[in-house]
Amino acid sequence: MSRSGGCTHARRACYSSPVTPSDDRPAANTSHDTLAEARAAIARHTRLVADFPSPGVQFKDLTPVLAESGGFASIITALAHGCPEVDLVGGIDARGFLLGGAVARELGVGVLAVRKKGKLPPPVHTVTYDLEYGSAALEIPTEGLDLTGRRVLLVDDVLATGGTAVAAATLMREAGAHVVRVSVIMELTALAGRATITRGIGSDVEVHALVAD
Ligand code: AMP
Repeated sequence: MSRSGGCTHARRACYSSPVTPSDDRPAANTSHDTLAEARAAIARHTRLVADFPSPGVQFKDLTPVLAESGGFASIITALAHGCPEVDLVGGIDARGFLLGGAVARELGVGVLAVRKKGKLPPPVHTVTYDLEYGSAALEIPTEGLDLTGRRVLLVDDVLATGGTAVAAATLMREAGAHVVRVSVIMELTALAGRATITRGIGSDVEVHALVAD
């Protein structure tokens, strides 16, 4: 099944300000030290890449942050803590796979890779959504697992326009599951991804970001 969402991306070079905490209060059940450690690692190790993957975009490369043992551990704990009860973590292609598996282990639930089109054997659920130039598609399997009634935590590294999260949530809904929370390391507030998620998934979905830029 294929569906086109109306999530036009408008990525701009508006991310040059230093990374700041999205919320000075620690998430529920997250020790202040752990959150502070995660935020310090993000501030110290995030690599900013101008004009990637297209002109005008400043890419937030969190790869070096995840390669730091202390940074990775504190980020996983901070992403998981305060999470409402869930049955499954959906890790969004590709850095969301790294984060999602570890967060699922922390929460004691399973993990499902939400993959880019063409990587999974058929049959699959497919959701196509608009990008600034062209479109992209995400897929999950339709067979081999029953997602009916599952409560899902979506995990990704960066929330930009929110189109990817909405597409992933649409896939889950097609499979009978529903997303209760979206957890990301970094939210790019200028791109209003939270509002897109509220419109596209629902106002009851919690959006949880460790830092905002
Ligand atoms: P969006 O659908 O616009 O919210 O984009 C989110 C997805 O694109 C995530 O999987 C991110 O990894 C990636 N992404 C978008 N913009 C950026 C950016 N400026 N820096 C790093 N990753 C980004």
